[in-house]
Amino acid sequence: MITMSYASLPEKFHHEKFDRVISEFIKILGHEHVYTDEKKMRRFASFLISASIEDHMPSAAIFPERAEQVREIVKICDRYKVPLWVSSTGRNIGYGAMAPCKKGSVILSLRRMRRIIEINEDLCYAFVEPGVTYKQLYDNIKENDYKLWLNIPTGPTPIAGPVGTSIDRGTGYTPYGDNFENVCGMEIILPDGEVVKTGMGGIPNSTCWQLYKWGYGPYLDGIFSQSNFGICVKMGVWLMPEPAAFRPFAITFPTDEDLAGLVDTLRPLRLANVIPNSCSIAPSYGEDYAGVWNIYAALYGYPEQIAVNWKIVTEAFSKFEGVSFLTKEQLGENPSFQIRANLMKGVVPAKPYSKFNHANWFVPIVPSQGKHVLKQKMLADEIIKSYGFSYNAELIVGSRSMHHVMEIPFNKKSAKSVKKSIECYLALIRVFAQNGYGLYRTNIAFMDAVGATYGPTIQNVFKKIKMALDPNGIVSPGKAGIVL
Ligand SMILES: Cc1cc2nc3c(=O)[nH]c(=O)nc-3n(C[C@H](O)[C@H](O)[C@H](O)COP(=O)(O)OP(=O)(O)OC[C@H]3O[C@@H](n4cnc5c(N)ncnc54)[C@H](O)[C@@H]3O)c2cc1C
Repeated sequence: MITMSYASLPEKFHHEKFDRVISEFIKILGHEHVYTDEKKMRRFASFLISASIEDHMPSAAIFPERAEQVREIVKICDRYKVPLWVSSTGRNIGYGAMAPCKKGSVILSLRRMRRIIEINEDLCYAFVEPGVTYKQLYDNIKENDYKLWLNIPTGPTPIAGPVGTSIDRGTGYTPYGDNFENVCGMEIILPDGEVVKTGMGGIPNSTCWQLYKWGYGPYLDGIFSQSNFGICVKMGVWLMPEPAAFRPFAITFPTDEDLAGLVDTLRPLRLANVIPNSCSIAPSYGEDYAGVWNIYAALYGYPEQIAVNWKIVTEAFSKFEGVSFLTKEQLGENPSFQIRANLMKGVVPAKPYSKFNHANWFVPIVPSQGKHVLKQKMLADEIIKSYGFSYNAELIVGSRSMHHVMEIPFNKKSAKSVKKSIECYLALIRVFAQNGYGLYRTNIAFMDAVGATYGPTIQNVFKKIKMALDPNGIVSPGKAGIVL
């Protein structure tokens, strides 16, 4: 029997009992893939959010390589009632990275499960394990000269991956936009160790598992996204066929007063698919070409289609005084524009961002209407300023709604700044909910608070499902505010 010291323990566990669990993990994974020392726990749990790391300290971190090992681990955890915090590539930076919601949980990192099971160029999909990174997938596509594009996030892009990003309902910037919309067919390990294949996956030797989402009967995939009902060990992800032509562009607007109008002008173009991608409305970050507000979007298709759509876009926005339409012809290899252009065609950069701010990300969904954008901006600006921070936001533009992404940086070395950032965030959640606005995602410290804004009825339904699938509450307790 081994005896170790731990950075934290699961609730109701004493040292010796946890030793027994660790011994069982080691039997399955070997010593080298089971970590418990405090220094490593601090590193695994390090994050950029305002929460205290002590409140989210894992007890251990384990790294299986195969789905069968995940099944065995889950069975042990169910027997001992050990909470697991599931993570794929674990770069959920801005939302808590790998750190668990509940202190004492064991991080179950699927980072070593790195198999690309299939890339199908004809039918435009990839079937992957959770540890596959965007860089790995991108390199594979390039090596094989597949004419397929990825839909990627910014920030940690090359080291993040499609399973974690999609299951947490992240966004990319190509016409495939919302990642979870492009998930088709998953293999899920349930908290009791059963394996379920969603959609068409139940048909033996299914020919359509990654092609047709719905299967037969209730559609289950959704309940495994942003949830703690199971562990995804394989996922089908639709990829975009490379278009014949691509034209990225920026439209710059000279005044803050243009914001509402540009949102209302953009909406019909998005809804009609003239501009098909999840484009961005961004402030100036000091680029030499930028206006106060800027749209970064792109046109895709055949050159003839692009010519027609470009005419429609320029005519629609010409009514704005001082507007500029900028493409490669004007901006050449301008690095800021190039980053945006690459995102809109899913080019994975060689390196992730080199520096991330300490910040809480506040991301409500806003209707794609100028009046709502102005209202959210006014509400946020007032609250954020009253706590001594400043409003700093971009919008990611869907067709009917947008993600209003606000980064609220604070000074991690100042206890006062940290405290104010927490109070500010809670005030934002409350006031936005009072005005009919909800968040799409949040970090591990605010999951309960955001869950509560959606009301008790849906929370009770989540709880009933949780009770049915995971009566011992072992998978990611606290995720999305769901606990037993
Ligand atoms: C500067 C910056 C820019 C960013 N830009 C974007 C952006 O443009 N778009 C965007 O979407 N995000 C963005 N993010 C947020 C985040 O970094 C990305 O979404 C990132 O891709 C998620 O990391 P991951 O893929 O490693 O997911 P993971 O960390 O592996 O997983 C994310 C979460 O999903 C759940 N989960 C993971 N795997 C499983 C599984 N196998 N089974 C069940 N549940 C699971 C867990 O709750 C986990 O915490 C940004 C962050 C920063 C700091």
